[in-house]
Amino acid sequence: EKCNNYEPTIFSKIIDKSIPAEIIYEDDQCLAFHDVNPQAPIHALVIPKENIPQLSQARDDHLVLLGHLLITAKKVASQLHLVKGYRIVINDGVEGSQSVYHLHIHVMGGRQMNWPPG
Ligand code: 5GP
Repeated sequence: EKCNNYEPTIFSKIIDKSIPAEIIYEDDQCLAFHDVNPQAPIHALVIPKENIPQLSQARDDHLVLLGHLLITAKKVASQLHLVKGYRIVINDGVEGSQSVYHLHIHVMGGRQMNWPPG
C-alpha cells in the first residue's frame, strides 16, 4: 500500500485482514467484499488498496486505478450473477451521503433499482 497522510478507516482493517469481510475478489490493487448492511439482495463494495478518501480527491495519476475499479465492479456483478442489471454508485462527501472516507464503488442488484434515488 502506498504511503499517504490520510486517516485509515475500517476498510484499511478489511484490507489488512485485521477484521473479517466476505471477500469476493482481491488483487494487488483492489478488494471486493459484501456490504455488511446490504441495501439490496446483492450489495458489494469495490475498494482500492490505496486509501483515496473520496472520488473528489482522486488525482489524474489515479486514472488507471479508477478504471481498474470500474472493470472490477462489472466483473464482480457478473460473478454474482446480476444478469438482469445492477446499480453502480459512488457516494462523495456529506451531501453524497458518504459515511466511510475510503473510496468505494457500490455494486447493488438482485431487485429492481429505482430511479431517481432519494
Ligand atoms: P458510503 O455511505 O460511505 O457510501 O458506504 C459505506 C458502506 O460501507 C455502507 O454501505 C456500509 O454498510 C458499509 N460498511 C461500513 N462498515 C463496514 C464493515 O465493517 N464491513 C463491511 N463489509 N461493510 C461496511
